[in-house]
Amino acid sequence: MTKSIETELKHLKTAVRYLIGLLEEGSLVPRYDVSTRREIAVVLQHLLHKVEGLPEGVPDNLVMGTAVRALVEAAAEHDAATRQEQTAALERQMCEAEAWASIHGHQLEPWEQVTGSSMEYQTSCEACGGFIYVSHNSNYNLLLETCERIKQE
Ligand SMILES: [Zn+2]
Repeated sequence: MTKSIETELKHLKTAVRYLIGLLEEGSLVPRYDVSTRREIAVVLQHLLHKVEGLPEGVPDNLVMGTAVRALVEAAAEHDAATRQEQTAALERQMCEAEAWASIHGHQLEPWEQVTGSSMEYQTSCEACGGFIYVSHNSNYNLLLETCERIKQE
């Protein structure tokens, strides 16, 4: 049986594209870590695209380089997506803290970024000095059930 290079390439591309779909969907590989299998799917997409764009007669080391670049670009996309999710979660934590504080009579100062961290913020009640800290995945609410300001009125 002889097979042309073109046929083999066509088969390989079809199989890789299908593999990407399987990785993204995940039911065939439930033990794979979700973020890792999605990232590998992105790497393969980048790799297919880059290999398609290679000029004729390019040396092997540059072909191998497309694998490295595919990995690096997928990692950068992953980091950006993670940051976006964390920022959304952080904003949610802030909104919830503000709502809680308001219901309990506190008046919060503007949020202040915790030094050395882009994902941690703190504020305090301008009336009683009570303190709230939030990050994208945690919050510490040291405000009293009722603001001292209300108790004194
Ligand atoms: Zn207060």
